[in-house]
Amino acid sequence: MEKSNQDSKNSAKKPGLMERLEKGPVICAEGYLFEFERRGYLQAGAFVPEVVLENPGLVEQLHREFAHAGSDVIEAFTYYGHREKLRLIGREKDLEPMNRMALKIAKKVAKDTGALFAGNICNTTAYMPEDKATHKAVRKMFDEQLHWAADAGVDFVIAETYTHGGEALMALDAIKAAKLTAVVTLAIPTNGVTREGWTPEDACKRLEDRGVDVVGLNCARGPKTMLPLLKKIRKKVKVPMAALPVAYRTTVREPTFQSLNDRHCNCIPRDHPFPIALDPFTCNRFEIAEFGKAAYDLGVRYLGVCCGAGPHHIRALAEALGRKPPASRYSPDMSKHYIFGSAKNLSEQHLQYAEQLRHRRSAS
Ligand SMILES: [Zn+2]
Repeated sequence: MEKSNQDSKNSAKKPGLMERLEKGPVICAEGYLFEFERRGYLQAGAFVPEVVLENPGLVEQLHREFAHAGSDVIEAFTYYGHREKLRLIGREKDLEPMNRMALKIAKKVAKDTGALFAGNICNTTAYMPEDKATHKAVRKMFDEQLHWAADAGVDFVIAETYTHGGEALMALDAIKAAKLTAVVTLAIPTNGVTREGWTPEDACKRLEDRGVDVVGLNCARGPKTMLPLLKKIRKKVKVPMAALPVAYRTTVREPTFQSLNDRHCNCIPRDHPFPIALDPFTCNRFEIAEFGKAAYDLGVRYLGVCCGAGPHHIRALAEALGRKPPASRYSPDMSKHYIFGSAKNLSEQHLQYAEQLRHRRSAS
């Protein structure tokens, strides 16, 4: 496989992405949009990463939290920080400062933590397969963001959340033209195929044939409904594979987080939990750990979590893959819980009370 200039330049200092993938899994935390929306620093709807300019310190802090929890990659928060979205909210003039600032913050944290520094481009929402004029505009948007990423010296680029295979191919072409290493991931809609009707394995194979370095899926699907697709892709492609599900309990009937319905609640606007009432569907850390092991067993080496992810998910994923990130210093030890624990120095009275609770639980 041809190595890009950027990758070999950086590998002199620290192992690059492809080298790390040869040795074992690489973990990448995503999900910054949802996390900042919940915290009140980013607006659901347009979902533009305005927090990068308004509160850069918070972005730096979240990068650090994910690195502490085990992320090997610090991904510049430029998701939806492209011209189409900035135009939508009337902030086109802030496009370059926003991108440069996001890259600067991520670079700083990557340097401090020894993690890889990734640039990011994503679905533009402007791509229309039949309309060639949109293709030109989309390529221009990729090129300008990639120029800033290359300028910042990224170790590689993540191109993510493509529902159109054609747009993913365009993103890959743009990254290769910039001589950078490319991780490209698709978000597979509810009907199980890309918007032009390609199966996930076919779309990934096309990306492989076009020179992608790492290929796979991110977003849209939770662990349960992403795994079966990964199995099929693994049979079709030889390059390293990526898998970053959303941290939500999607099902065969409702395979994406956009399609989830909440039967226990009737106060959700438009009766549609996506994207801001998904809380009751959140995966616990054990479910993410299970997913990590299962995907690893399939041969997936680039693993992470997308929308809905919190540092506790990333730590569980890291530990499931045999890692011990700094946050493992505080991994649970319930033996020391005063009611539910078992440590010898706990009060006997509390432990007896716990016994009563246990009986009640098994009786109910
Ligand atoms: Zn996502």
